Amino acid sequence: MSSVDAVVIGGGVIGCAVAYNLAKAGVSVAIVERDDICAGTSAACDTAIHLQSKSPGLHLRMAQESIKLFPELQKDFDEDIHFKKTGTMIAIQTREQNEVMRVFAERQRNNGLDVVILDRAAAVEKQPMMKGDLVGATYCTADATIHPQFLTKGYFQAAKKYGAKAMLHTNVENIALKDGHVASVITNRGNIQCKYVVNACGAYAPFIGKLTGLDIPIAPRRGQIVVTEPMPKFTHTIVNCARYIAAKFRPDLLGTSEADRMGIGLSLTQTERGNLLIGGTREFVGYDTRTTQKALLYILQHAANILPALKDIHIIRTFAGLRPFTPDGLPILGNVPGIEGFVMAAGHEGDGLALSAITGRLITEIICEKQSAYDFDLTKLSLERYKNLDIKAFEAQYAVYK
Ligand SMILES: Cc1cc2nc3c(=O)[nH]c(=O)nc-3n(C[C@H](O)[C@H](O)[C@H](O)COP(=O)(O)OP(=O)(O)OC[C@H]3O[C@@H](n4cnc5c(N)ncnc54)[C@H](O)[C@@H]3O)c2cc1C
Repeated sequence: MSSVDAVVIGGGVIGCAVAYNLAKAGVSVAIVERDDICAGTSAACDTAIHLQSKSPGLHLRMAQESIKLFPELQKDFDEDIHFKKTGTMIAIQTREQNEVMRVFAERQRNNGLDVVILDRAAAVEKQPMMKGDLVGATYCTADATIHPQFLTKGYFQAAKKYGAKAMLHTNVENIALKDGHVASVITNRGNIQCKYVVNACGAYAPFIGKLTGLDIPIAPRRGQIVVTEPMPKFTHTIVNCARYIAAKFRPDLLGTSEADRMGIGLSLTQTERGNLLIGGTREFVGYDTRTTQKALLYILQHAANILPALKDIHIIRTFAGLRPFTPDGLPILGNVPGIEGFVMAAGHEGDGLALSAITGRLITEIICEKQSAYDFDLTKLSLERYKNLDIKAFEAQYAVYK
């Protein structure tokens, strides 16, 4: 049996960020991944390091601290992670949305995020492609884009540079406890003795929880994306719409049409090679990662409604990923009472890239029992906060094990 201090289960952006920070801090660590590095949601997502899409308060503050870390990470990585400050505009299409976004932006400004609301003329002047159906837009220069696969690989390679081991194509089948403490991780390719297990399995984190009898309220929330042919610079910033913000935080504010129930909302970014990534949906359909014709049509109709020039652009492929959704939109991070050494690092919904850097830092502080450099209230991120949740109802409502 091999032995390390910490086993990180899951080789997505979160597991790799945690392993990188632990290894850099001198902790002996192994990443165990049942497939390859970046084979899950971290390879089926968009490219935004978004601040404007974060709820004012802890969520936004974590993202603000996280975004500061990417330039520093780039210096430590061999991989070019394509981190670029681009800014974001959020298209506002109705007077009602304008009021909601005005309040949202004001609360974000109170959290130190410089967001302004532009009227239609100013929005179109700033973003000439956005001349469709809109009454105005928000604008914030702080948001950035990144390459998700290169970011994940950057963390992974740097983790290995600092001594992390990797067991790829290795499935975690069980976790052995001794006297209420994590003792070893049992895989299909042998056992690993350890003091800590980090559950970084994204939408699959509940399955790892069940191995030790834990109920973890994380559900897969599918997002579908359309990819276009490469093209010259199309937009100056990331483009979203107010419906996207509502679909993320307040789906009840959307209507009851089929498109509303799929959580259709615009997300548009452009890769370094020129491809546009156009999203998306927010759907609870279990672990089904197929794209659907209906959703893709709604996505494109809605996007072209805001950016009419999209009508003339060719699509080359589509894909879907599973966001690890939690009931309050915040990830589940930190120690789990009752099982010493079991640490959660999952549930980042649509924010895993943006929050990866801060998550790696926080989990390492927790495992190394270091005074935190941040003043976040970690009880708001703990699994404990859900102790009164009706987990059976949650699992049934969101098709957790289907
Ligand atoms: C359409 C879409 C768009 C998105 N856009 C953005 C964006 O622009 N910005 C942003 O910040 N976030 C975005 N996200 C969210 C982001 O992609 C996720 O939050 C993030 O990728 C989650 O990372 P993770 O490491 O927790 O999970 P994953 O990447 O899914 O990694 C979990 C890993 O655990 C492994 N695993 C599971 N069970 C086992 C087991 N038993 N043994 C071993 N390994 C196991 C899996 O194989 C997988 O590789 C988007 C998501 C979607 C779906």
